[in-house]
Amino acid sequence: MADAIVVGSGPNGLGAAIALAQAGVSVRVLEARDEIGGGMRTAELTLPGFSHDVCSAIHPLGLASPFFRQLPLAEHGVEWIQSELPLAHPFDDGTAAVLERSIEATASTLGRDAGRYVRLMEPLCRDADALLEEILAPLSLPRHPLTLARFSRHAALPATTLARISFRDERVRGLFAGLAAHSMLPLEAPGSAAFGWILMLSAHAVGWPIARGGSQRIADALASFLESLGGKILTSTCVKTLDEFETRSLVLCDVTPRQFLGLAASKLPDGYRRKMANWRYGPGVFKIDWAMDAPIPWKAPGCARAATVHLGGSFEEIAESERAPWLGKTDPRPFVLLAQPSLFDPSRTPSGRHTAWAYCHVPNGSEVDMTDAIESQVERFAPGFRARILARHTMATPDLERHNANLVGGDIGGGANTLKQLLLRPSASFYRTPLAGVFLCSSSTPPGAGVHGMCGYNAARAALRSARGVAEG
Ligand SMILES: Cc1cc2nc3c(=O)[nH]c(=O)nc-3n(C[C@H](O)[C@H](O)[C@H](O)COP(=O)(O)OP(=O)(O)OC[C@H]3O[C@@H](n4cnc5c(N)ncnc54)[C@H](O)[C@@H]3O)c2cc1C
Repeated sequence: MADAIVVGSGPNGLGAAIALAQAGVSVRVLEARDEIGGGMRTAELTLPGFSHDVCSAIHPLGLASPFFRQLPLAEHGVEWIQSELPLAHPFDDGTAAVLERSIEATASTLGRDAGRYVRLMEPLCRDADALLEEILAPLSLPRHPLTLARFSRHAALPATTLARISFRDERVRGLFAGLAAHSMLPLEAPGSAAFGWILMLSAHAVGWPIARGGSQRIADALASFLESLGGKILTSTCVKTLDEFETRSLVLCDVTPRQFLGLAASKLPDGYRRKMANWRYGPGVFKIDWAMDAPIPWKAPGCARAATVHLGGSFEEIAESERAPWLGKTDPRPFVLLAQPSLFDPSRTPSGRHTAWAYCHVPNGSEVDMTDAIESQVERFAPGFRARILARHTMATPDLERHNANLVGGDIGGGANTLKQLLLRPSASFYRTPLAGVFLCSSSTPPGAGVHGMCGYNAARAALRSARGVAEG
């Protein structure tokens, strides 16, 4: 079996390396930064003793991933912590809609949409494992076609249409808008509803956990398991061109199309080069981390029971906010995704202190400082919040891209989630490139963004199939 190089140590780079090493391939991972992990890093961004997740914080897909589930992550240091509620979504009247772990408990908070919610979610949750397997697998003939068809009927719709036909209660529509906004698409876009469904399904099926100590623990566990299989990782090693690798090696690139062009453009045929050049990046994000002397003083009690809180109020307000980045604008009242891990994991802060993490969507490449806009949204649902801030750390889109070259223009998804780019990610050949032995394995391949390692795992399987074909041929 050939040797393999993996460029980049995000969840997909490490996932690819593990899948290759498990198949007996000798693997080296080359990481540009001093630290491994890509989007799974944790650092003292504000004050000594305060650990902040620089990128990912909440991991439903990490727990749902069929690949991660096979790995001995617990033995290598990952401990998942579930908050009592996966999600709270506060409103101006001091109440909150919530996602509970159980469908029935969630429905009991959804007023006149309760029965409808149960009827929609129960059949999906009954087949949750099969469905999550289908959603996270590369596009191919489905193994569970009926389950997938049941899901797709609702998922392919724009979130606006879905909310209109499925829910009558304004609060439930608001809750759904926040979930669908994870798509980073305008909520009028086809397919935006899919993200809402996947997140609701995962809340009931596996929960939305955080990793004790921070997301870095997931990266460290993947690296430790890889090393136990004989894999090697070199940090501070930025790959500038693929020319430096021997042709007999498999090369898996945990990078997005624009970076891949930088690594290999001169060798690529015109058609593929054009496809990579035309790859469309989505909105960026503006991110804030806070060190605080007390928890966030939420008006709605449900908010203190959830590690994730969505701040944006009604469906219409969130829809307007999500439209703005696509029109090149920032919204003064942005939809804010907020995590408060220290409420459930005291190991992250000095005793009695707290951290919070939040971001909003902005135009790709935006340099606008959204600190005041984000903090005003928190203050709106938690008066007195600002008085509890000890220190803050902010990242506009150029800071994010400096932190990790894959965050092009601050896009945290490896490319816009338009229907076309979800289906042809990043081309009809998915992980394969026109270069023999060279594969893409980042979130710019199916199934896309999130800490689940499935892009890496799927790419490694494609690489192994091709290496076996070459060996046999
Ligand atoms: C602010 C933010 C919040 C997020 N929140 C969540 C969340 O809560 N839950 C969730 O599941 N996901 C979240 N995500 C998304 C998640 O982090 C990504 O989808 C995931 O990390 C993508 O994994 P990847 O392996 O494809 O790429 P990355 O994790 O981006 O890793 C790519 C790696 O490749 C390295 N690299 C790039 N170019 C080179 C080169 N030329 N040579 C060597 N190394 C190179 C980079 O330094 C990086 O380490 C978030 C992302 C961000 C930025």
